[in-house]
Amino acid sequence: MIYNEFKGMNLSRLGFGCMRFAMKDGEIDQEKVDQMFDLAIANGVNYFDTAYPYLDGKSEAAMAHALKKYPRESYYLADKFPGHSIPGPIDNIALFNISLQRCNTEYFDFYLLHNINEWSIKIYESEDYHIIPDILKMKEEGKIRHLGFSFHGGCELLEDVLTRYEGMFEFVQIQCNYLDWTMQDAKRKYDIITSHGLGVWVMEPLRGGKLANLNEENHAKLMALDETASDASYAMRFLQDLPGIKVVLSGMNEVFQVEDNLRTYKEHKPLSEEERRVLDEIAESMKKGVPCTACRYCCKGCPMELDIPMLIDCYNNMKFDRSLNMSMRLDGLSEDKKPAACIGCGQCSHACPQGIDVPSVMRELDDLYTNGPTWGQAVKSRHEAIINDLKNK
Ligand code: SF4
Ligand code: SF4
Repeated sequence: MIYNEFKGMNLSRLGFGCMRFAMKDGEIDQEKVDQMFDLAIANGVNYFDTAYPYLDGKSEAAMAHALKKYPRESYYLADKFPGHSIPGPIDNIALFNISLQRCNTEYFDFYLLHNINEWSIKIYESEDYHIIPDILKMKEEGKIRHLGFSFHGGCELLEDVLTRYEGMFEFVQIQCNYLDWTMQDAKRKYDIITSHGLGVWVMEPLRGGKLANLNEENHAKLMALDETASDASYAMRFLQDLPGIKVVLSGMNEVFQVEDNLRTYKEHKPLSEEERRVLDEIAESMKKGVPCTACRYCCKGCPMELDIPMLIDCYNNMKFDRSLNMSMRLDGLSEDKKPAACIGCGQCSHACPQGIDVPSVMRELDDLYTNGPTWGQAVKSRHEAIINDLKNK
């Protein structure tokens, strides 16, 4: 196993993400979870990451069950505060204590504010919600050893948060893989986090499995390099070459995935130039979005002062994958900065060296945003679950 030193600890570079356990008859397949944990631990994995809402609140207990035979000091536990999905100002400390109880632990080695983005930052920073002071209190009491946050917003917000809270956070978890390196600006985010001297934690190294199961054409390109290596191993090796990354979380739900990852993380095998070139080619073939280079030539003349490249980035992501994170990013904008505010004057298209028909993109983005599933709908059941948990605590 490859280990990374972080604040005096040796963290296994491969972390076990607990958001996608295998299910059986509608419940978590605990036997399989135990088996996968035993295999991972026997091969050096010592980092386990869960979150209050994962698997409808059942992930924490399933993880604790699989870890109960191991001494607490032999592994590192990470959990997250669900500020992005709480129903209103609540008893944050009571919710935190529910997580401790479910995880069968007195403390978390790592604790994150879950999913900071342009919309949720307002909740995290709201005086009424009182989240940050309560979480800092838990840290003072020793129930949190290291504080960080997971992030789904844009680079400007990331820089802003890290600058305003300098010294508070020790690590940031971002979506990073060879596709999002350019598609979701992961490279810039990596640079911002490391320039602040913080550790980079990676989620979605395989883009929800997409990079582990490439289409036939792209899979053949990798097979031509080495027919014994899995598609997933290339995505993991891409991340191994980035020294600022301390932990890569893989949401494994089958034993063969654990075995494959363990093979890849046995030793650092840097990508060759040829392998890197092929991965770039595969990433490009998967994007096929609006080819905005974020040069911002169009922004100056926009009478509505829209952040056009940011909106195009949301559009490309929404077209590729209907993740709710992009809806949340748009939720965070004031009405006069949303795609519907575009008056279709066409100034931007004249200025654009790529010849992009920006007004059409804005119309389509508005349609995707207003007629697609919304974050509000998605969190309704989470709100009810949190209210029930606090009532029954
Ligand atoms: S068409 Fe829309 S985005 Fe483009 S300059 Fe006009 S208002 Fe701005
Ligand atoms: S000018 Fe074109 S390429 Fe440049 S940011 Fe605007 S839309 Fe993107």
